[in-house]
Amino acid sequence: MPLAFLSWSEVLIPIARRAFMARLLAGSALSCLLPPAAVTALEKVGSEAKPKMSRVPTMTGPVHCDSLGTTLMHEHLLWFGGPRRQDSGYTPIPADKRQESVEFAVSLLNEAARVGINTLVDLTPHRPIDLYQQIAQRSPIRIVPSTGFYRRAKIPPYLARMEDPNQMYEYMLKEVVEGIQGTKIRAGIIKVAAETSPMTDWEKKVFRAAARVQQATGTPIATHDGAGAREQFDGLVQAGATPRRFFISHVDMALHGGLTREQLAKELVSIARDGGYLEFDTFGQESYTPWRDLLYLWQAIMEAGFVNRMFFSMDCNWRWENGKKIFEGADAPNVDPDASRRTYAYMMTDAVPRLLKSGFTEDVIYTILVENPRRFFCGE
Ligand SMILES: [Zn+2]
Repeated sequence: MPLAFLSWSEVLIPIARRAFMARLLAGSALSCLLPPAAVTALEKVGSEAKPKMSRVPTMTGPVHCDSLGTTLMHEHLLWFGGPRRQDSGYTPIPADKRQESVEFAVSLLNEAARVGINTLVDLTPHRPIDLYQQIAQRSPIRIVPSTGFYRRAKIPPYLARMEDPNQMYEYMLKEVVEGIQGTKIRAGIIKVAAETSPMTDWEKKVFRAAARVQQATGTPIATHDGAGAREQFDGLVQAGATPRRFFISHVDMALHGGLTREQLAKELVSIARDGGYLEFDTFGQESYTPWRDLLYLWQAIMEAGFVNRMFFSMDCNWRWENGKKIFEGADAPNVDPDASRRTYAYMMTDAVPRLLKSGFTEDVIYTILVENPRRFFCGE
């Protein structure tokens, strides 16, 4: 069929799918990349054929939502906070480690680009934007920055002290509409968080303010979920958020909060049925969520027909401690001897091969890593 008779999406999707498959089929040689020229060509096709489609704000400017490519939906370029064990709250990056932090973040992104990752959604909503700018300018990976509030005990005091819902709303709205911390860089997603269920009153206020920002601007939302996926989902919907425009992160964590995997599978399927997206990111953390439990949950969701509601990511984060870089999972409570290998690239070098071995088809992996993020950001 001549190209002129195909719709834009019919042209783009098969091309992108072929490129993605080529990378997967390269097997251990996952460094076989989609050439940068191909990505540029895809964007060009998009802008010519569908000029009015939605664009996603990134650190280096807005991009067409159809050109995101392989996307990790829950990551962190830089992270903060004291040692997990003592739960010592918010700790900024040490002044003498700022430049080294940039260099290390760039090296992790370059490694991710080499194995075919195109876009990262950064869910550190309080970040030194100057360092983020340096990192983004030196990386081929697109970074979607966020605004919002992480857990109250883990964020800078000026955010933790905020009580007025209108002030919360205005703060997030400004970062979405005008830019982050006085820059013109707009946040492309809103992060909200609750560690326990039931949620605190302060967390509920944050969730409601985020839903208002979404109503005003259409910006998607990502949650951090400690134990209450259904409560988070219902709270956002009641506050006016649109189910297909937000996702619940770390949904397998409820296994550590008392639910059996059968109960959790039922809950997750019900959320997907109501239109919500579910994000998983404990790949390689066997001591935390065993692979067999993850497979059980994924199988339940897919058998119910909701592969189009799943996201896979790494939630890669590390912090400075006594002058050393410590990845999450390198210390108690869930010690992972391989913690420092769980970088963004791990998704393609380790997680995807394991998924293929466990019976996932290339089509399903493509749906989760490419199509679902595109659909989510396109607002369909
Ligand atoms: Zn995270």
